[in-house]
Amino acid sequence: MQNNILNLSDLKVMDMEEFVDDYRFLVETTASPPSHCLKCGAVANLYKHGKKQQLFFDLPMHAKRIGIYAKRQRYKCRECDETIFENLLIWM
Ligand SMILES: [Zn+2]
Repeated sequence: MQNNILNLSDLKVMDMEEFVDDYRFLVETTASPPSHCLKCGAVANLYKHGKKQQLFFDLPMHAKRIGIYAKRQRYKCRECDETIFENLLIWM
């Protein structure tokens, strides 16, 4: 499958299904993990904290809606205990 079918940077298309009204893509980011906490700025004090799947809808293609399931890695900061998501540059 073409890797960049959705024209999204740092995303890898894992799967695609066609439905009557929409296409649904399952994507994961290929970006490297954040180097520091976005809340308190602590460097290298993050640990992985599970993944969360989110559904976005993009502009229609071929008169069908584009549904994007994005698996996002969650991180937690040891310093401030905040949960942050990896960057998801989905609209670029
Ligand atoms: Zn923090």
